[in-house]
This record gives sequence, C-alpha cells and structure tokens, in this order.
Amino acid sequence: MERIRIDDVDSRAGPATVKRPLAAALGASDVALNYYELAAGESFAYGYHRHEDQEELFVVERGEVTFETEEGDVAVAAGEVVRFDPGEWQRGVNTGGKRVIAFAIGAPREAGETEIRRDCERCGERTPHTVARADDGDGTVARCLDCDAVTGRFE
Ligand SMILES: [Zn+2]
Repeated sequence: MERIRIDDVDSRAGPATVKRPLAAALGASDVALNYYELAAGESFAYGYHRHEDQEELFVVERGEVTFETEEGDVAVAAGEVVRFDPGEWQRGVNTGGKRVIAFAIGAPREAGETEIRRDCERCGERTPHTVARADDGDGTVARCLDCDAVTGRFE
C-alpha cells in the first residue's frame, strides 16, 4: 500500500496554478491521477488537445469548468464528472469566478501521442503546437508547428 497527502506532492509548472501528479507519487503504473487548482481563466491543458490512447475523466470538486468539446462548450459544475474517449478533443477552462478544485484521471497512464492546438497570432488561426521544456530550462514553452512562433510560456 502507498499513502500520500495531496498537499505534500510538489506542484508541476504548467497552465494551472496547482497540478500535483498524485499517481506518480503513489507509484501507479496503469492510471494517471492529477490534482488541480485553477485560478479564474486558467486551464488544465496547454491547449485544445486529444490523447491517442488515453481516456480522461474530470471530477470537479469546487468551482465551474467549461470544456470546449467536439460538440461545443459544456459547463461542468462542482459535483459533476465528465469523461472523454481516447482521441476526443477537449480543453477545460475555469470560467466561474471561483478557484476550481478538480481531479483528472487518465487511463492507461501512457497517453500515446497527444495532439495540441492553440491560437497562433502570426498564423491567424488555431494551429498544431508542440509543448517542450524551454531552451533556457525555465518552465515550458508552447510553439506553433506551422510558423515556429512561441505562443505561450509556462513556469
Ligand atoms: Zn503559427
């Protein structure tokens, strides 16, 4: 058995104020489990994305999240849970006034290829992106695959 306290797991840099990778801390091999806190306007994800091989569930504990989905925007309130199929496009953003507390569960743990799309000002449209560690080692950067512009930096 493994046991952890959520607050003891170090938060990862990224688009969310707090992301604690609980599955990693627990040594889980087949499931991903992350604890999130999102300030107003923040997202779980770097962009509109899909995981090739991983289904993903979001348990919204507090606040309200609007998911951009293939069927349009879906508001998900505290006390609700949503699930996305492998290969299904989505992005959840805190659109309520309050801080969001939520858990994301993914299985299998290895997501396969993840495609990410973000708005690129230079291209004038939403384009495929890559997210990688910054060259200077400080956080991560999102870069447009069409024009190479950096459209976001996360520390
Ligand atoms: Zn671009």
